[in-house]
Amino acid sequence: PARPVYAGQLPMGLQTISNIVAVSSCKGGVGKSTVAVNLAYTLADMGARVGIFDADVYGPSLPTMVSPENRLLEMNPEKRTIIPTEYLGVKLVSFGFAGQGRAIMRGPMVSGVINQLLTTTEWGELDYLVIDMPPGTGDIQLTLCQVVPLTAAVIVTTPQKLAFIDVAKGVRMFSKLKVPCVAVVENMCHFDADGKRYYPFGRGSGSQASSKPASNSVDVVQQFGIPHLFDLPIRPTLSASGDSGRPEVVADPQGEVARTFQELGVCV
Ligand code: ADP
Repeated sequence: PARPVYAGQLPMGLQTISNIVAVSSCKGGVGKSTVAVNLAYTLADMGARVGIFDADVYGPSLPTMVSPENRLLEMNPEKRTIIPTEYLGVKLVSFGFAGQGRAIMRGPMVSGVINQLLTTTEWGELDYLVIDMPPGTGDIQLTLCQVVPLTAAVIVTTPQKLAFIDVAKGVRMFSKLKVPCVAVVENMCHFDADGKRYYPFGRGSGSQASSKPASNSVDVVQQFGIPHLFDLPIRPTLSASGDSGRPEVVADPQGEVARTFQELGVCV
């Protein structure tokens, strides 16, 4: 599927969005939603008009990670459109705000629902829409990438060797779709305790996929040519802020994590 189907017929709801950034991972639990949400709030802090679309139907995290006053999406019955909810100026759409329980759906149905939710939302003028992709590189992800004219992809991984294989899969999917993969975020790379730095998952898988010197001599820069690699440490504040509904970059805008996201924000 080399050619996205949107060519020439951009879905109505997406026509007023300048940049659509996919945040993707091949597995659940690596921190994809954490990255998507913090990236979005960083871009907003930089002055951009931003929306987040949580496309993870099976495990929507957005309602936990941000706490808008209005926790239900509204419908415009005449236009049959969805009005996003909002938190600190960022527009939000997630299945978790749709008032249904956890979805039990088959793949094609999921794709249909995701596409409908995404393209019938009244996003308005946005500089960035950040899409928190469902984990993996299967049909649901592929269909989504074909419907949406992505301008950039960010891949989130952890430092294990196995995760690197997953990153490769993700990069290949985006490259087939001609979407530039601008950065890999290696999450949970280390933690600091008692004045020492620990690497619980070993050192560097993401580094194999970017131009940063590979820590274990496997240099596959040529293979993928991803321009940026970012490390995110394990931080109790990151998980606490994820649970509290107030993203870390909002809670601590001058902190180390916020600075990393500012650099990532410039890349997308
Ligand atoms: P995914 O979207 O890949 O499933 P999440 O972003 O939901 O992953 O993260 C899974 C859990 O791990 C969440 O509770 C989140 O707060 C926590 N978490 C993610 N990254 C970090 C980190 N660097 N430090 C501490 N906790 C983290």
